[in-house]
Amino acid sequence: MAAVDLFVQRVITDDRWMNDAACRGLTHLFFPPPAERPQARERRETTARDVCGSCQVNGTCREFARTNHEYGYWGGESEDERHAAGFRLIAPIGVRARNII
Ligand code: SF4
Repeated sequence: MAAVDLFVQRVITDDRWMNDAACRGLTHLFFPPPAERPQARERRETTARDVCGSCQVNGTCREFARTNHEYGYWGGESEDERHAAGFRLIAPIGVRARNII
């Protein structure tokens, strides 16, 4: 096993709840395209938030993302919101990287 495999190993491995995800087929709303501008991110995440609001596995999804330090929009929560709640990304970039103690 490579060192990077250890580093990104998931803490929660049971992902059967994803079968009930309301976002199936909507990946483009939950992960940013390259060089996404802030205004576009805000619009994309607003739409993603609406999808999460109607999702029956919202709480499980949020816990999964927080515990596994996921990137993207999960469980009605953006990367920034997870970061602000104390669930930091493993390899943050930009503003979040500069604010790490
Ligand atoms: S809460 Fe949102 S991101 Fe999580 S599975 Fe449901 S729709 Fe997808």
